[in-house]
Amino acid sequence: MTYAALDLFFKKMDDNGIKLTYDDVRLHTTYSEINPTETDLTTRFSRRLRIKIPIASSPMDTVTTSDMAIAMAESGGIGIIHRGLSPEVQAREVARVKNRLNGRIQKPIALQSSWTISQVVAMREAKQYAFHTFPVVDETGKLVGLMTRNDFDFSDPSSTVSQMMTPLIDLTKARVGISHQSARDLMKKYKKKTLPIVTEDDMLAGMYIYSDVERVLSKKHAHNLDATGQLVVGAAVGVGDGALARAELCADAKCDVFQIDTAHGDSGNVVSTIRELKDRYPRIDVIAGNVSNGRSAKRLADAGADGVLVGQGPGSICTTRVIAGIGVPQVSAVYDCAHALRGTDVPVCADGGISNSGDMVIALAVGAESVMVGRLLAGAEEAPGETRFFEGRLIKDYRGMGSLGAMRDNVASRDKYGQGALTISKVVPEGIEGIVAFKGPVKDVLVQYVGGIKAGLGYNGARTIKELAAVAEPFRMSSAGLTESHPHDVMITAQAPNYHSR
Ligand code: 5GP
Repeated sequence: MTYAALDLFFKKMDDNGIKLTYDDVRLHTTYSEINPTETDLTTRFSRRLRIKIPIASSPMDTVTTSDMAIAMAESGGIGIIHRGLSPEVQAREVARVKNRLNGRIQKPIALQSSWTISQVVAMREAKQYAFHTFPVVDETGKLVGLMTRNDFDFSDPSSTVSQMMTPLIDLTKARVGISHQSARDLMKKYKKKTLPIVTEDDMLAGMYIYSDVERVLSKKHAHNLDATGQLVVGAAVGVGDGALARAELCADAKCDVFQIDTAHGDSGNVVSTIRELKDRYPRIDVIAGNVSNGRSAKRLADAGADGVLVGQGPGSICTTRVIAGIGVPQVSAVYDCAHALRGTDVPVCADGGISNSGDMVIALAVGAESVMVGRLLAGAEEAPGETRFFEGRLIKDYRGMGSLGAMRDNVASRDKYGQGALTISKVVPEGIEGIVAFKGPVKDVLVQYVGGIKAGLGYNGARTIKELAAVAEPFRMSSAGLTESHPHDVMITAQAPNYHSR
């Protein structure tokens, strides 16, 4: 890949001391034989973590807890659980995402054979289990049978589990170590939707569910799954000992990637935390940030980061640039970092300031492999917080993690902006609090952004995100050109699902 047009354009800008952001840039079109529907948006969020659409939800307390992370992973993206939660609650949120789907359930909820059906029904209701299939064990944990929906339907409340279950002798079961493929073959052969896994002496050691195994093995689903068939999820951590304690709980909950989430990624604390996390958890990728120039990005990669978050101050709720006078307009920052990381195998995620799918295309064209968004997802049903009416419209709250409200509510926010030791009356916020329009379910919101990215690839004759960066020819947009680009000289009478004016 040569990136010739890209490099030439940014060199010219640099020579003139010009730094650009999304509204400053558009892309030329080129000859194309690619229909948008034929494009493939598979990309990397971090060095080893592949995702199917290049969109991550930001670790913010009004954007990503488990509901958002589940919806993101089910749609092919990824969500990063925010660190405004206590480490225990954050790890529980990670676990909730991981337990949503199971290629193989490691610890299935089992029934004791001596329980009555009414006891089981009460337990199911109390725990709000949505499923009806349970392995049955004796007091030692040995598998003795299986209760399915059918068995429940035909039981009366006073009968015992042992009377109603399908006994071990009639069960299809498998030994520990069976592969997903062999498990599916066995279930297919015997027409069983559940396959208990046992040790040599019949102790219950797991369970396969046919529909989940099918999903893991089939390449057709949209979900981002790990090797065991569970949804992928990330966890935000800070720096130092606090980060290591948080990371330990999230690693136990099987999180797939850590995000070292700081306002100033190019700092000694971040570098040492990267090294410590990589040392302790070699199998979990670590992405770090935020930075806004190539030198900083390279230092993080050299320290062992598996991905770099680029963006200091572009976010819709950020005031860092105004308060601290730092930060580089986002398109130049993304290009500079991606350029510095060429040949290192460390991807860039463009974080903040994305207003629409066209901005996503530009971020990817100048070298990012994914984008991270807050505002665009904060209005979704799955974002934390209530949906309420404001001046006759449905809205949700959205606030910066460096806003006064977030800093008041959690010390992690104060830490992120280097003010962990201050009382709330002394903190200097770097973000604001606001509201955004309610947008409905994440999957419907993402359809528009994904469709827009695919359209961008099609116009550039690119089938993949990598190809887009190789062929992209950016040019500088004039202010009249920008006005022309938006709807003009008409009164909009019907809102489009993918357009809002500033
Ligand atoms: P958005 O998608 O809303 O434009 O930007 C979201 C991004 O802004 C987050 O992923 C994060 O990097 C950044 N961010 C979140 N809260 C704050 C804040 O209070 N101040 C600053 N400077 N950046 C923030």
